[in-house]
Amino acid sequence: MTDTLIRGTVVTSQAVMKNGWIAVTGERIEAVGQGDAPPAATVLDYGDKLVLPGLVDGHMHTSSAVGWAGIEGSTRSAAAGGVTTCVDMPYDVPQAVTDAGVLAEKIGWVERLAHVDMALYGTIKKHDGVEAIAGLAAAGISAFKLSTYEYDAVRFPRIDHPTMREAFAAIARTGLPVAVHNEDQELVERLTAAARAAGQTDAIMHARTRPPLAETMADLEIFEIGLETGAHVHIAHSSVARGFAIAEAFRGMGGQATGEACIQYMCMTEDDLVRLGGRGKCNPPFRTADEVERMWEAFVAGKIQYVSTDHAPWPADRKASADIFACGAGLTGLQSFAPLMFTLLDERGLSPTLLATYCAQRSAKLHGIWPRKGEIAAGSDADLVVLERGEFAFDETTIQDVPAMRWSPYQGRPLRARVAATLLRGAVIWDGQAVLAQPGQGQFIRREAH
Ligand SMILES: [Zn+2]
Repeated sequence: MTDTLIRGTVVTSQAVMKNGWIAVTGERIEAVGQGDAPPAATVLDYGDKLVLPGLVDGHMHTSSAVGWAGIEGSTRSAAAGGVTTCVDMPYDVPQAVTDAGVLAEKIGWVERLAHVDMALYGTIKKHDGVEAIAGLAAAGISAFKLSTYEYDAVRFPRIDHPTMREAFAAIARTGLPVAVHNEDQELVERLTAAARAAGQTDAIMHARTRPPLAETMADLEIFEIGLETGAHVHIAHSSVARGFAIAEAFRGMGGQATGEACIQYMCMTEDDLVRLGGRGKCNPPFRTADEVERMWEAFVAGKIQYVSTDHAPWPADRKASADIFACGAGLTGLQSFAPLMFTLLDERGLSPTLLATYCAQRSAKLHGIWPRKGEIAAGSDADLVVLERGEFAFDETTIQDVPAMRWSPYQGRPLRARVAATLLRGAVIWDGQAVLAQPGQGQFIRREAH
């Protein structure tokens, strides 16, 4: 007899199974089927609600604003949003994850504070950082993250071309991918200085000072270095479809080149930046409505590796200035991720199987944690999100993070689903009303595949 039987409309990357079931023993899925099910000690019957793999958010930041203590609130909102694995970026305050010692310290915080499972990125110091690469890979990080743009010389440095070449060669030897923040420093700095000098600090200037060319020039640099060194280079976020076309061109030349979209680039536009002001500021910025359509063309054509949130919560008061350049860059997005992506697909007549594919399976694969994560199959962790269809709207006051982080660019947005439950390794951690997970219930997930 199995421990728990979960019933509902089971949605995998392959199929939508009405009257489906998932048998769970311990923390793992034992079997999946349709119709008659094996006996179980406990039955969770979700009726005609959709049961999908728990989402694997391949790109988010818990600790940019408040340090590792931010793991607690971000992962609470992840649990409420159906995200069961957070792949967390390394640009933390006060200390970025630049060697195995820092990584061990961060893992300690994950084990004390996380409400969902976490895989972790590592990065390198601006100078003399390459020698730490092998140790970070051996200690279980899922990917490296480097940047062509400097936000902070210590926390978020620009890696210059010779160092990047050396780093990519060392990363290639580890078999891990390297995600790169792709913005051209010189172009952005010149345009920003000119806007400031002219007193143009309203919201739209954020988009004007970071044009698509700033991204695509950086894409070319990183893929060229990837081609020479043999590294798998991944655009950490492309806000323009051209980024995926460039990645495809480099694959055609024999490179390992991929790119991800964030959900905001699939639905938000420059008009939203103007409407939201600081709360609509992220890097890269929102683009035009036409660009959003081109992003969907790239998505439907299978050119996007996966869709992430780039969740990077700043306290609301850091997003409130009328001077757009004074506001922090980053959005909240974990708790809205599953219902919003379901809604965007449904509004376009696309199958919810694509939610399982692009927000769970493919992100888990890139981070080397599939099929343990991101899959509903025998042997996988019993990580699940249950979606209830209906007419809802996103309410930022329900965000399960600390009060300063209870704001959302999606406030009031109509949604066609809500998260009715989240299960982490077989345990219900969100019941549609409250987070049931305790701090430390989440675990560090090591990369398995190389
Ligand atoms: Zn990011």
